[in-house]
Amino acid sequence: MKSTLLITLTFLSSLLTFSQNIKSPSEFLEYDLGNRFSRHHQVVEYYEYLAEATPEQVKMIEYGQTYEGRSLILVYISSEDNMINLETIRNAHLNSNKKDNSNDKAIVWLSYNVHGNEAVSSEASMLTAYELITKKKEWLENTIVIIDPCINPDGRDRYVNWYNQFKNTPFNIDPNSKEHHEPWLSGRPNHYMFDLNRDWAWITQKESQQRLKIFNKWLPHIHVDFHEQGVDAPYYFAPAAEPLHEAITDWQIEFQTTIGENHAKYFDANGWFYFTKEIFDLLYPSYGDTYPTYNGAIGMTYEQGGSGRAGLGVINRNGDTLTLKDRIAHHHTTGLSTIEVSSLNADKLNNEFKKFHAKQDFKFKSYILSGNKDKIQLLTELLDAHEIEYGYTPVTTVRGYDYNSGNNNTYKTSEDDLVISTDQFKGTLVKVLFEPKTKLSDSLTYDITAWSLPYAYGLNAIASEQKITSTAQNKTNDVLNNIDFSENEYAYICRWESMKDARFLSDLLKNKIRVRFTTEPFEVNNTTFKRGSLIITKADNKSNPEFLTILKETRFKHSRELTVAPTGLVDTGKDFGSSAVKMIHNNKVAVLTGKPFSSLSFGEIWHYFEQQLHYPVTVLEQSYFNYIDLYQYDIIILPETAGVIEKQTMDRIKNWVKNGGKLVTIGRTVNSLAKDKDFSITQKKDSAENDEDAENGKDNSEMNIIPYSGNERNYIKEMITGAIFKAKVDKTHPLSYGFNNDYFTLKLNSDAYDYLEGGNAVYIDHENKPFNGFAGSDATDKQKRSVIVGSQKYGKGNIIIMVDNPLFRGFWENGKLFMANTLFFMGS
Ligand SMILES: [Zn+2]
Repeated sequence: MKSTLLITLTFLSSLLTFSQNIKSPSEFLEYDLGNRFSRHHQVVEYYEYLAEATPEQVKMIEYGQTYEGRSLILVYISSEDNMINLETIRNAHLNSNKKDNSNDKAIVWLSYNVHGNEAVSSEASMLTAYELITKKKEWLENTIVIIDPCINPDGRDRYVNWYNQFKNTPFNIDPNSKEHHEPWLSGRPNHYMFDLNRDWAWITQKESQQRLKIFNKWLPHIHVDFHEQGVDAPYYFAPAAEPLHEAITDWQIEFQTTIGENHAKYFDANGWFYFTKEIFDLLYPSYGDTYPTYNGAIGMTYEQGGSGRAGLGVINRNGDTLTLKDRIAHHHTTGLSTIEVSSLNADKLNNEFKKFHAKQDFKFKSYILSGNKDKIQLLTELLDAHEIEYGYTPVTTVRGYDYNSGNNNTYKTSEDDLVISTDQFKGTLVKVLFEPKTKLSDSLTYDITAWSLPYAYGLNAIASEQKITSTAQNKTNDVLNNIDFSENEYAYICRWESMKDARFLSDLLKNKIRVRFTTEPFEVNNTTFKRGSLIITKADNKSNPEFLTILKETRFKHSRELTVAPTGLVDTGKDFGSSAVKMIHNNKVAVLTGKPFSSLSFGEIWHYFEQQLHYPVTVLEQSYFNYIDLYQYDIIILPETAGVIEKQTMDRIKNWVKNGGKLVTIGRTVNSLAKDKDFSITQKKDSAENDEDAENGKDNSEMNIIPYSGNERNYIKEMITGAIFKAKVDKTHPLSYGFNNDYFTLKLNSDAYDYLEGGNAVYIDHENKPFNGFAGSDATDKQKRSVIVGSQKYGKGNIIIMVDNPLFRGFWENGKLFMANTLFFMGS
């Protein structure tokens, strides 16, 4: 007995010494945590160290890299037993809706620093990991903790490096000091200036794509996204604010409250301020709280006051000093408290997760999509990434809500139509991404209120209340690549309908292949080709000995179907030698960056050219813009801005357009042009302005008295918070080549402009009701007879306007062709 006791004691004391020997973040980094910002590689090194020092409890993996080449890592922390069985636990959890599998461990995923300049996050994560393995081992008995210490390393280092450069010594709490004023490009977004906390569902960015793969392998019970807000704000934690999406279950809401109450206990004990149920709602599906929620988790945002403004310490509005150490303490407390609650409720979490994925009783059971094959394929790529199952219909008749008309219709399917059912593991996510109308419990929200994927991808869709049977494979998928490529033809013709066609063209031009496009429809070999179809002739490329090889390879790479024409004589329409068939030029494109332009909008354009179209773009900054020769550029793009563009810059651009340049303006920048009398672009008035005119002579008794406290709500009549409108398309306009008769546009605000004299490629006529999302009554009225995409002659040049930014967050697939059309067809 004695000796056994002695051995046990020795063993215990060695364990104790062992855990005491694990270095805290401060000991490892050799500075007190909170005394400076750790650069990303230091954070990675600390986790590497933890994994080496306690391999039985901590495992680190690299799940990817950022655009700038930094490591994306994930750290698993649990008990020794669980760590040995990690893979078994993961499988049991993922299959928990199947009878034989049962998991009893809670899975908690903590994500830090999605916004790079909310830089407390990664610091707090290190302390949380350390305390977990040294002091909170009992929770780890039934809990797997997964930590992503930094979702956005490029943004974090941008902030930290900038701060270290401009920080006073010692740090200065005066909020006016430079260290509290980040420059134009803050550390918030990633390399391409995308907000990664708007990208979970669209996964346009490399970081999101890689993270989603591993996230789907786990689908945690709990997901926390750690953030920071303004320096004056108290801490925010769950439960979330209205509106809550109707797909969120009562249990999910209830457990948010359970977690919030546990946090409150610690915050009360410390006398820290906090708030719940305000501002941060759960609707838009592409956030770090909603996306996990629609996948069955309790998804939450926690917000500390601070972000890029706070530095190591700053005085806030109340005259109190907020330090990085305070911020760490708060995020650390909620992190641990979350794990504590999860551990205490592991059984409940498992039962409810099972229920969430087992029963999906939504009104619409199936979504049937038809249209352009490329667009269908692009959509299936997105579905694959989300691990959403789909199939293809047999020929049958279905009845349901028709997205194009907004009515209930009967539709006869064809064999290639895509079917996505809500009766699957990811059923809730399917509902949220495809439903024709978002149900709003409150119209004041943090973000857009509509995103239905059929509209975003430009596909026809029916939402059916019946479950439609489908087959797994699309037979027509690979036929393309088997067709022999016949040589020695007069010309090769490619349709122009999708971004896949645009990428093909971009690649051809890069390889010095000369390509023409048709401005009139024509017919060869009994096939009709619409405006914009690409014509690649042997004659144009006769001096290129590699012509056929390149064409063959490029066609294969992009899976394009080419129609061969043995003669330049067409059956109907204009022959290939006609002036209606124009040469596409290798236009040189420049985009403006820096103040006053929106970094998000600039990033969308930059990402579009480099990562989507693969076409070179020159980035020009305001500071030297006035010294460069603009005439070397064919197209200049102005990103969105609500600010004022410098007069000298605008004057130079105007002269350049007068002499033949093509200027592209997007979103709110159109308003800058409308204010300039030289351009005949007219913004429609707000009805408030109309009311003011009308109110002269109006009886005061007719005016509604709005209570002071309700002011915010009265604005909403004027507001559009991301709603989908149906617009008409003039298919003879080069900007509209490749589009259908209707185009569904995502309106991000209520701005509206009169029809242009030059050309209205896409416009809303008298039919102006929103198909999905919130649009206030006055704002909706304003959209009548307004232009969405159009062009206007100015001197010898052209001004192209895109009122509703089609590149917004990179997810409105169907709108992307407008930019390609501008580049290839307007510049020729
Ligand atoms: Zn944030």
